[in-house]
Amino acid sequence: WSSHDFSWTKELEVNNKKVFGNHSFRPNQREVINATMSGCDVFVLMPTGGGKSLTYQLPALICQGITLVISPLVSLIQDQIMHLLQANIPATYLSANMEWTEQQEILRELTSDYCKYKLLYVTPEKVVKSDNLLRHLENLHFRELLARIVIDEAHCVSQWGHDFRPDYQGLGILKQKFPNTPVLALTATATASVKEDVVQALGLVNCVIFRQSFNRPNLWYSVVPKTKKCLEDIDKFIRENHFDECGIIYCLSRMDCEKVAGNLQECGHKCAFYHGSMDPPQRAFVQNQWSKDEINIICATVAFGMGINKPDVRFVIHHSLPKSIEGYHQECGRAGRDGQRSSCVLYYSYSDYIRVKHMISQGGAIEQSPLTSGYNRSNMINPGSILETNTENLMRMVSYCENDVDCRRLLQLVHFGEKFNSSTCHKTCDNCLKITNFIEKDVTEIAKQLVELVKLTGQRFSSSHILEVYRGSFSQMVKKNRHETVSLHAAGKHLAKGEASRILHHLVVEDILVEEVKKSDFYGSISSILKVNEPKVCNLFAGHRIILRFPSSVK
Ligand code: ADP
Ligand code: ZN
Repeated sequence: WSSHDFSWTKELEVNNKKVFGNHSFRPNQREVINATMSGCDVFVLMPTGGGKSLTYQLPALICQGITLVISPLVSLIQDQIMHLLQANIPATYLSANMEWTEQQEILRELTSDYCKYKLLYVTPEKVVKSDNLLRHLENLHFRELLARIVIDEAHCVSQWGHDFRPDYQGLGILKQKFPNTPVLALTATATASVKEDVVQALGLVNCVIFRQSFNRPNLWYSVVPKTKKCLEDIDKFIRENHFDECGIIYCLSRMDCEKVAGNLQECGHKCAFYHGSMDPPQRAFVQNQWSKDEINIICATVAFGMGINKPDVRFVIHHSLPKSIEGYHQECGRAGRDGQRSSCVLYYSYSDYIRVKHMISQGGAIEQSPLTSGYNRSNMINPGSILETNTENLMRMVSYCENDVDCRRLLQLVHFGEKFNSSTCHKTCDNCLKITNFIEKDVTEIAKQLVELVKLTGQRFSSSHILEVYRGSFSQMVKKNRHETVSLHAAGKHLAKGEASRILHHLVVEDILVEEVKKSDFYGSISSILKVNEPKVCNLFAGHRIILRFPSSVK
């Protein structure tokens, strides 16, 4: 697909320069364009900022007829249209919150033989719920004027993805109605299973797949323990590494955003918060201030970032645990688009896991990325399986954070089904930086003791309490429950600090122990107790070994 000898090659190059002002193509752009213009269905995985839009806007410009683009958010669509109109490319969109007469006018224009539009953007809801639109598309198709169908953010089709949107699942209808019209599906994030899901749900046939590495060599990754003085740590980190530079701090809740922003302001940073409870003008104001460098730092929920194109974001900090590796990768991806070195720091505490898990189980209590917000959760196809997927995704994230040996890049890229040789990380992640040697340790016996201890104490206590007993504490809480008399009290006192907790957390990640999270009192604080998952424990006692890697300083 990279050959220059297609009938459209000349026109492509001329327009790329003249209309879009680009001197050349970025990796895979030319190949994707050639494949879709040859009439194939195409699936494109390209990292954020890779230049996906050009792969359909350029063909739209030089092909006969109209390109239909399905995009999840009206705000994204408006942004795209603004850019297209600036480049004198006639484009429009249809959305439900548009005046009826305005919609009629656009639809009427579509029926004209001299239709002025080259691109028509719609939200998936429009396709799935408006017979009127489908009739007009059929009409265009009949007149051979439906050039191409583009599905942007295609991972939203899949329930396994982190941005599932039910209406996207109905988009299969397009291939049924227009089997010969080429479909171009684009996403910046998809694991192998998500990709399969998307291809199948959309009914793509003999689809050509382009994927490029999701590794971002200029991003430096680290996971840092989150302590009580996390806010001081963040201030210090920014001051020492990125003073007066631009960054995003992702927080879990709206309250956290305001708290973190307030604190950093007091420390003298130019900082604001951004979240879903603010009204649109307020949000636009903050975003605008940030774009114009009037403020450096935004403390935001994941509602912030989609469609943000600021090239010089020097750091992305996660103040709390992200909900999935895919989400984490995408949020980090907003740093360093200009290719300059940038930092991604995640402040991790196991207790955040409990908090996020509780929020997920409550459904909706957690702020969604704008892609997933705004649909009614009761409409979901199978809420049970969604909960399961979310919990599984969260668990992978915990496992990522708990791992303090393997290359961060490797851990992320494996998740996207990509092979990666961690020697090419060149010590740009915390684990590669600190580990020159590690040892593998069989911790099966310790694991068994921990499980036993949870049982001995009646499966009624938190993980931190279990660890205290195991390490031989005589704290008030231990004595109150007479746990200093339990046979395994102090059985783990010889272990290095953090080692027992790492093993315990591993047991949770492996689903051998389960955190049961609940609201503990009317103040709304949450508590969690450890339970034993009997079917999995059997494996543990049936000879299944648990091997963990530790830095070689741990004996
Ligand atoms: P994506 O949708 O993959 O995140 P975009 O399509 O928004 O990326 O493109 C990101 C930025 O890269 C845009 O500012 C765009 O103008 C620019 N861009 C895209 N293709 C090229 C190219 N071939 N040369 C230079 N800049 C490009
Ligand atoms: Zn590494």
